[in-house]
Amino acid sequence: MSLIKDAQRGLVTEEMKLVAAQEGVTEEFVRKGVAGGHIVIPVSPYRKVKICGIGEGLRTKVNASIGTSSDISDVSVEIEKVRQAELAGADTLMELSTGGDLADIRRQVVAATSLSVGSVPLYQAFIEAAQKKGAVVDMEADDLFRITAEQAKAGTNFMAIHTGINYETMKRLENQGRHAGLVSRGGAFMTAWMLHNEKENPLYAEYDYLLEIMKEHEVTLSMGNGMRAGAVHDSTDRAAIQELLINAELADKAFNEGVQTIVEGPGHVPIDEIQANVILQKRVTNRKPFYMLGPLVTDIAPGYDDRVAMVGAALSSSYGADFICYVTPAEHLALPTPEEVYEGVISSRIAAHIGDMVKLNKRDDDLEMGHARKALDWDRQYAVALNPKRAKEIRDSRMPADTDACTMCGDYCAVKIVAKHFNF
Ligand code: SF4
Repeated sequence: MSLIKDAQRGLVTEEMKLVAAQEGVTEEFVRKGVAGGHIVIPVSPYRKVKICGIGEGLRTKVNASIGTSSDISDVSVEIEKVRQAELAGADTLMELSTGGDLADIRRQVVAATSLSVGSVPLYQAFIEAAQKKGAVVDMEADDLFRITAEQAKAGTNFMAIHTGINYETMKRLENQGRHAGLVSRGGAFMTAWMLHNEKENPLYAEYDYLLEIMKEHEVTLSMGNGMRAGAVHDSTDRAAIQELLINAELADKAFNEGVQTIVEGPGHVPIDEIQANVILQKRVTNRKPFYMLGPLVTDIAPGYDDRVAMVGAALSSSYGADFICYVTPAEHLALPTPEEVYEGVISSRIAAHIGDMVKLNKRDDDLEMGHARKALDWDRQYAVALNPKRAKEIRDSRMPADTDACTMCGDYCAVKIVAKHFNF
């Protein structure tokens, strides 16, 4: 089964109907988007999920990445992160564990959520090689494809696959150099493996085989961004552009085979380069859904990187990015806690909404909030607030003694003063 092939035959599937209803667009709009590769709807034959459309003309979606590390590995904490991400309103999850029993952690995470779950199969392949054979460079290509199929059967809906790292991109990287090197774990594993074994990346060399696995298990392919910049001074460089071109061509090939495909984008980008990155990516990928990793727009605010990414995500979604990966305050410092996961999702949802106000002209809630503020109608304000609980907690903790205004201006509430003299 392929949603792309169904859509191209003119069939409107249940998934397309659901997306149309959620987004307030016509079923035909969604069908055409899927048929043209501009919209994806991650599904799995092995697990029912909350349907979520990603792509052109739809609300910008937010992904929360969770998972253990080699230092901190407690599956109960990861399950709590799932809960916090869902409470905060994440649209999808990526399970990126690199510590503990990886297959078992993924099984428990998938069982704990109804959201679409993404994975990076090469993490497990490289880490198992390190555990069983002594080094990540001892990974066998067959193990990588076997694990990819196993993760698909475990109910994974989309997978980040690092196809764009090959001898060509590595040559660009070597010729040009980098201020901050490579920061993608998948990119680092794969380049180390290629250099040690003097072999081409199997995901690139055996791409047809990979597509067979994606097709058989209906996995949505997310073309990984292994060459993404890890510092603003490395943004939009030759290695990243080379990888984008390779990924764009391979994404077309996947689409022609009926495999739904997303293309991932850069990580650290100063704000004056974001629009160019979005236009370039959309143009060369034939408007495939664009999964933006951040972007982080400055490198000097560790501890606040969720806010740094908000600026980048708001701009990138306003220019056309469709899907943004959240960033938590712990980015670059530590594995996030469940509380930091919650904060990261809320920050990204705010950014996605700001972007959608421009991209989709979605401003009705803002209008409603303006009216509710003028009327000092606090319940209406909470109802439309992106995080009503937090808004109410703050007001309730500092209520005025005898006024329906708030303690910001108290007796001198501008709203009340103006209401006495004007009748808007
Ligand atoms: S007191 Fe000030 S901040 Fe509070 S509602 Fe009135 S004008 Fe707004």
